[in-house]
Amino acid sequence: MRVLLVEDDAELRRRLSDRLASSGLAVDCAATAADARDWPDLPQLGAIILDLGLPDGDGLDVLRGWRAQGHTVPVLILTARGDWRDKVDGLNSGADDFIVKPVRFEELMARLHALWRRGGGRSANSLVAGRIALDPVAQTATLGGQPLELSRKELTLLHLFVRRPGHVIAQDEILEQLYPLMAERDRNAVEAHISRLRRKIGRDTIRTVRGLGYRLEA
Ligand code: CA
Repeated sequence: MRVLLVEDDAELRRRLSDRLASSGLAVDCAATAADARDWPDLPQLGAIILDLGLPDGDGLDVLRGWRAQGHTVPVLILTARGDWRDKVDGLNSGADDFIVKPVRFEELMARLHALWRRGGGRSANSLVAGRIALDPVAQTATLGGQPLELSRKELTLLHLFVRRPGHVIAQDEILEQLYPLMAERDRNAVEAHISRLRRKIGRDTIRTVRGLGYRLEA
């Protein structure tokens, strides 16, 4: 899952992006309203975490611009404690949820996962595909009720598949979700992650669709 973090405070940006990355998310960062406004691949993002007080503009104006262009990516706003006007203005501008500074990382993750569950039309904690169940908040997965031991990248990969069982997931989409925009992307790494995941959930569970990508058979 790819996330864009828009935050001008360098220390907070580094702290949050490190923790998001170690939770298995691919994180891109922007520090200004101008960078965020013209972000090149908004439709590929799973969510945006948006600070409102940016040095060259108001985060809400950036958000209104995205919505006016028809972008539906979930947006989580960072706001100062108790500033209810930010929340009202944010909702009116198309925000999906809020997180109050100082940011507690566990709350941030819980809110992100709640956005994704709502986006997928699911209200239960677990995503289920065949014998596989994945809990995106607890970051755990089971196969036939037995816990799976997965690396962060493998869990992110499995998450991509169980959200859309039976659909072909393109190799490029997997690359985008596993690795941030600026990082070097390596197709061989995707194949290596897929083959490790196959060893854990069953060789035939993930089919290669030649020239297109991979599909979860559940
Ligand atoms: Ca700020």
